[in-house]
Amino acid sequence: MNIQNLLLGEIDQWDLLNYYNVTLLYEELPNSVNGFVFNYDGINFIVINKFLSYYKRKKTLLHELAHIELNQLCQKDKDLFAFHISKYEDEADNYIKFLLE
Ligand SMILES: [Zn+2]
Repeated sequence: MNIQNLLLGEIDQWDLLNYYNVTLLYEELPNSVNGFVFNYDGINFIVINKFLSYYKRKKTLLHELAHIELNQLCQKDKDLFAFHISKYEDEADNYIKFLLE
């Protein structure tokens, strides 16, 4: 099960969130932050800016799921993804773009 199955409509977002052990939270974040993802005690937390439009929320969720799917959360510094590193940002975005094409 992966993001491609979701994009193809073979599963819904809750199937995938469950599969990746994701707790999804909508919070009041600064304008400049769409969302972020981190792992704590084996649970993946995706936090999305609650002020985003429906479309942007979905796009951000896909982006954060890409970080999980690309195994970008196994870093020593657990705070890493509170402030995204541009290399991983590009990888996550390119991955979604690739799947959509
Ligand atoms: Zn990111």
